[in-house]
Amino acid sequence: MGQVLPPGVARAAWSSALDALRGELGADAVLDADDALAAYLDPFAPGDARRFCASAAVLPANVGEIRTVLAWAHRTQVPLWSVSTGRNFAYGGAAPRVSGSVVLDLRRMNRVLDVDDTLGYALVEPGVTYFDLHEALRARGSALWVDPPAAGWGSVVGNTLERGFGTTPYGDHAAAQCGMEIILANGDIVRTGMGAMSRTTSWQVFKSGFGPSYDTLFMQSNFGIVTKMGLWLMPRPDGYRLGHFRFRHDDDLAAIVDTLRPLKLDDTIQSHVAIDHAVRWGAGIAPRRRWYDGPGPMPDTAIDAMVRALGIGRWNLRFGLYGPEDLVEARLRTIRRAFATLADAELDATDYAHATSEPEGGGDRSQVGIPNMSAFQMLNWRGGQGAHLDFSPVCPTTGHDARAQYTMVRSAAHAAGFDYYGGFTVAGRHMHHIFAAIFDKDDAAQARAAHDLVEALIRQTGDAGYGQYRAHLAFMDLAASQYDFNDHALMRLNDTIKRALDPQGVLSPGKQGILPARFRS
Ligand code: ADP
Repeated sequence: MGQVLPPGVARAAWSSALDALRGELGADAVLDADDALAAYLDPFAPGDARRFCASAAVLPANVGEIRTVLAWAHRTQVPLWSVSTGRNFAYGGAAPRVSGSVVLDLRRMNRVLDVDDTLGYALVEPGVTYFDLHEALRARGSALWVDPPAAGWGSVVGNTLERGFGTTPYGDHAAAQCGMEIILANGDIVRTGMGAMSRTTSWQVFKSGFGPSYDTLFMQSNFGIVTKMGLWLMPRPDGYRLGHFRFRHDDDLAAIVDTLRPLKLDDTIQSHVAIDHAVRWGAGIAPRRRWYDGPGPMPDTAIDAMVRALGIGRWNLRFGLYGPEDLVEARLRTIRRAFATLADAELDATDYAHATSEPEGGGDRSQVGIPNMSAFQMLNWRGGQGAHLDFSPVCPTTGHDARAQYTMVRSAAHAAGFDYYGGFTVAGRHMHHIFAAIFDKDDAAQARAAHDLVEALIRQTGDAGYGQYRAHLAFMDLAASQYDFNDHALMRLNDTIKRALDPQGVLSPGKQGILPARFRS
């Protein structure tokens, strides 16, 4: 039996509760041996991985078994922590916010339930990964693309519920979601939107349905367990071009963002746009010791040498243009003209018209709907057992805000001995600014420093009016506390909904700072 007990449950009671659960679901659906539970610890823990520790994991195979687990959780008062595939790396993995929770691991529910090639959508279960969906589409000869996030092995449902993003025109995953099935804490099964009609023909084509619409209530929340989710898929275009801009100067950032914004707002650039700092680009190619092997952050001179050797920019822009060749050409001309005002900008645009060949680099593959794992190359940047902790503030798409955030993050990172490994993904009016503190997880001092740096950054940027879009388990409370308008009215509303839907607080306590009273110390 694992070391950690659910809160308030004695060892003997726990042992018989587990026996009861095994009796109902079968022995192989309930894991509590230490070696099995290791998979549910935070793989990139910035400090002691046992700070967030499951007491067991349960792997239901269908909706009926989830309801069985829910009834058990109410009987035993044991909290559950729902994950789809649990690969939420850099934010806590599959580990629960409240130690002793049982991880409700939905990976066995992994069917692609429906694909509609005409209307461009799919309906999937939580265990379906981006790789799985991509393969399923290929296998049926579908001309639909997925929009993969940086790491293709994660769950479509999990990533969408966390409001993850990719880099095609369908890069806003929450926006591409259409229709859900949810099990509430009381066991009731609800379908949202048009799915509320039992004889629906339109579940995945119209989001709202009739009356109030609830889908976003189940994103980044602990109000229910999502068991099916619809998503819109992009029809494969006739052709596409991938543009790469290189900028020579660190100071170009503000002008890049101000030049880009109108091109995004009027849809000249259809895809999400990545603005990668040189270190983020370089880390995809080689470990840092190739350029610099000393202590502290990589000096500017070493970054410059790397930039020259790799033929990259201090900032690097990546975007995709899709569709018929004449339209793509017209878009490209407009973009070139706009950026011509920036000194020393260089543009490459690679043509993959009619897609007879596929791009090779991971970022490029993501931009044309092919999931990959090349982002993990970053783990080799610093040496040792690479891990990273992400800091993820939302940034308005203005040069002023981009420069302010970059300056703040880079100087705090440098002071703590970290490189600025980061960049912006431009959606439209907002950008996701992602900075990763890369550390060797076997080096306790580095792990601690990463933790302290991200905590300090959340506080510092929060004071400047920038909130997080997502946060590691260790910082969920802090990030939530910054959404404090009217003396934390949003959290009062969250608590009210939580009490109404889950009065015993069995679902994912602590998720996004929503913590039922019985778990507050
Ligand atoms: P991925 O493997 O794609 O990274 P996870 O399975 O780790 O995604 O899910 C990320 C987070 O989303 C989880 O920690 C959990 O809070 C939430 N979540 C995931 N799946 C569900 C679900 N089916 N129902 C409710 N919440 C979920």
